[in-house]
Amino acid sequence: MEETVAVLGAGTMGRGIAQVAAAAGHPVLLYDPHPAALESALADIQAGLEKRQPAALGRIQPTQALEACAQAGLVIEAAPEELALKQELLARLGALNPQSLLASNTSTLSISAIAARVPDPSRVLGLHFFNPAPRMRLVEVIGGLETDPALLEKASQLMRRWGKEPIRVKDAPGFLVNRVARPFYGEALRLHAEGVPKEHIDWIMRGLGFPMGPFELMDLIGLDVNLAASSSVYQGFFGEPRYQPHYLQQQKVAAGHLGRKSGVGWYRYPPGPPPTPTPPNPRTDHPLPLILGPNPLAAALRARFPHAENPAEAAFVLDCRVKPERKHSLPEPLPVVTLVWGHSVSRLQAEHKGPLAGFSLVPPIGERAIVELYAPLSGPNPALALAQSYFEAQGHLCLLLPDQPGGVGFRILALLINEAISALAEGLASPAEIDRAMRLGTGYPLGPLEWAERIWLKPVLRALEGLHEELGEARYRPHPLLRRMVAAGLEDFRNLFPKEKDKEAV
Ligand code: NAD
Repeated sequence: MEETVAVLGAGTMGRGIAQVAAAAGHPVLLYDPHPAALESALADIQAGLEKRQPAALGRIQPTQALEACAQAGLVIEAAPEELALKQELLARLGALNPQSLLASNTSTLSISAIAARVPDPSRVLGLHFFNPAPRMRLVEVIGGLETDPALLEKASQLMRRWGKEPIRVKDAPGFLVNRVARPFYGEALRLHAEGVPKEHIDWIMRGLGFPMGPFELMDLIGLDVNLAASSSVYQGFFGEPRYQPHYLQQQKVAAGHLGRKSGVGWYRYPPGPPPTPTPPNPRTDHPLPLILGPNPLAAALRARFPHAENPAEAAFVLDCRVKPERKHSLPEPLPVVTLVWGHSVSRLQAEHKGPLAGFSLVPPIGERAIVELYAPLSGPNPALALAQSYFEAQGHLCLLLPDQPGGVGFRILALLINEAISALAEGLASPAEIDRAMRLGTGYPLGPLEWAERIWLKPVLRALEGLHEELGEARYRPHPLLRRMVAAGLEDFRNLFPKEKDKEAV
């Protein structure tokens, strides 16, 4: 007989967690003070279990009496996001049963704070499920300052038995996934405020392999829920500027534009976000570029696309180098299309006499990759037309975007990488777990750290340095760990010292 699990709160998350626990064979007590919540929860759970595990429904017992939950060996609290309420619920259950394990599904509150009023805080932990709980496999298993490490191991094993993928994370604002994902929204909002259409940002991120673009995803999550997560991480870090929420999002929430649930958010529903335009048909009549640069982007372009082997054959130059200082020695008088990861096009214009345009494309280059093209402030010129003709001939959609440093896809990715490195440096989780959590929790095509390894750490660092210099904001400052790794010639996060197993010996 499996031990009884009590779930406190029968809302969106509580009902999903109750369903998962019952499906895993546990008798479940589902507590909620509001009878209507219990009623709709049972209807939802029934719909969820009906086809696959009808017997599991019989294992769920709804209750409006908290005392009834005293018999549970494991309590998972999924009540509203209020510290005092969560403290009280767990303190009361802790007093009713001195043996039970007490878990909170909080998204934003500190586990150490929630545990503070429980007589024995060593038995309190975070079990952070993702919405919808029956479908999302990731669970962040969070230890507070006082949590018994053996309990975290036990909880991780239990989550595996429930068919979940547990990831051990330290107690820090936003834990791991919600924190590392912040730039996906925050940087997209800034780019939009700088004049990039939201549809373009969504199409570009899908083209990179993300299941959804930031704006359509905010509409799905709910702009209010997303703003609350951003605000809580920002406050949790005492106003650290890189987490600062954007006024555009606040404005939408204030207007009641909450996303799909209110019928309007960034898009209107129906019809919802416009689909990505069909890419052009490949052609063979196109100008050939000379591709410059040693990095994986240059290598990927050379491997994938036809190109000139020497300047005499080339119609233009595709310069994939990142540092602007490296770009003084361009083979004039060919038109130049330069990678914008570390600077805007306009920044190079004064030093370059011939036609100049910018581009960005992030490896690995998939079939649906969208090429971002940038003209200098002086306007379109032959370099831009050559780039467009070339990339369209390869069957890739091109979008002409307002000049800014970084490009859309790369700027968002670079900040995700920088944030993942900061989480790693703070010891929130191991490199492999950070990547696994981001893939499972958010559906990213690659974890941010493995992505950094694929495009090399040095170009990421040089690009962040360029963004920091040109945009002048602290949010682009490369993390010191990234600087140290590049200075030491390291390209692989998995070989960093100390490794998990070495930590005890240090
Ligand atoms: P919700 O509003 O859908 O559900 C909360 C439930 O708690 C409601 O049914 C409400 O009746 C009940 N409740 C009210 N007072 C209570 C009390 N005193 N004791 C017990 N239950 C009470 O909220 P939700 O989205 O399910 O979120 C619950 C928790 O899960 C929050 O801590 C939230 O941060 C966290 N969380 C939410 C998500 C998400 O995507 N919604 C994801 C992960 C974690």
